[in-house]
Amino acid sequence: MTDTTTVQAIVERCQALFEDLDFDAVKQWKAAAPGRKAIGYMPVYVPRELIHAAGMLPVGILGGGDQLEVIQGDAYYQSYICRIPRSTIELGLTGRLDCLDGMLFPSICDVIRNLSGMWQLLFKDKYVRYFDVPQNYEDAVGGRFYVQEMQTLREDLAALAGRPITDADLNRSIAAHNENRRAIRDLYAYRAGKPWQAPTSEVYLLLRAGMVLPVEDHTRLVRDYLAAAEQLRRPMRDNARVVLNGTFCEQPPLGLIKSIEMAGCYVVDDDFMLVTRWLLDDVPADGDPLQELSKAFLHRSADTSAKYEPKRENKGVFMLEQVRDRGAEGVVFACPSFCDPALLERPMLQDVLTAHRIPFTAFKYAENSGQMAPIREQAGTFADSIKLWSAA
Ligand code: SF4
Repeated sequence: MTDTTTVQAIVERCQALFEDLDFDAVKQWKAAAPGRKAIGYMPVYVPRELIHAAGMLPVGILGGGDQLEVIQGDAYYQSYICRIPRSTIELGLTGRLDCLDGMLFPSICDVIRNLSGMWQLLFKDKYVRYFDVPQNYEDAVGGRFYVQEMQTLREDLAALAGRPITDADLNRSIAAHNENRRAIRDLYAYRAGKPWQAPTSEVYLLLRAGMVLPVEDHTRLVRDYLAAAEQLRRPMRDNARVVLNGTFCEQPPLGLIKSIEMAGCYVVDDDFMLVTRWLLDDVPADGDPLQELSKAFLHRSADTSAKYEPKRENKGVFMLEQVRDRGAEGVVFACPSFCDPALLERPMLQDVLTAHRIPFTAFKYAENSGQMAPIREQAGTFADSIKLWSAA
């Protein structure tokens, strides 16, 4: 009872943050002390440490979900692209992002790049930056470029903050984000070990809370959830263990995640909003901070469709490790309609799975998809087929 209430209370708090398209949590954080600023960022990865070190709140902007009616946003884009840029424009034009003092658009695809240009035209009084990331993984080439990119961002944010961002500030921020990465790694390990104790619909909401809460608060929330979840005794089901792939940018509706679970799948790994799991381990917090962040990006970051991989033979290796390390029995490819990075990568990943005789299924979604019955049927059939094969 008490423990159930605790898990329930945490999940309800996360759900309220998830549903709040007016970003009241951000407004409250800013109002708590004079002069506070918040910087939004789009998927997939930005070094949030730089924003934190400037004393600002990093805010993940992941589109409008299935609760936002897009009226003006459609006028800015052709129909045959994903939905996240339209709903993000809608959020901006309706004043919901007025609490942000700037926006970062990380390099992932042309859509996000174009959105950064539109943002510059639409919101001339706000700081806007297209944040490029390296596509060469040598320290002397891509690393040098990336450190320069981060240095420019550091100087821009310092100007906005009205004070310099020192190495000590950055190292403190790296340490705070290391704590957060550790907590989320523990959360993912816990879910993979006992997926019935930590349903993915709850894990997802916890991750979403990290998009608007200060990193220290979010780390505490994840730790509290882990402690509370362990006190519960939830029924263990004979579900199929799957890895979910393709959900790194435009997010699936919560109903879709629940549908996959209700259809008999335990999601034991995924690529939801990768920003908190992009860097795979601790970043040293006692060296040259930009160099250390760069080395972590180049050499110890998640190899997913969201990141350029120059070598064909490396395609799918990270996903195979996810399957092996999490004890998954199959892969569910779920990605936004018209998502070039995910859809171009998918055939190569499917080839790898086929070669290793790992079953998979694939479908597309939009952040406002409403009809879940076909997805439940497809995921359910997939889970049944896994159980039949593994029983054979
Ligand atoms: S959903 Fe895919 S295509 Fe759309 S902005 Fe994100 S990465 Fe680009």
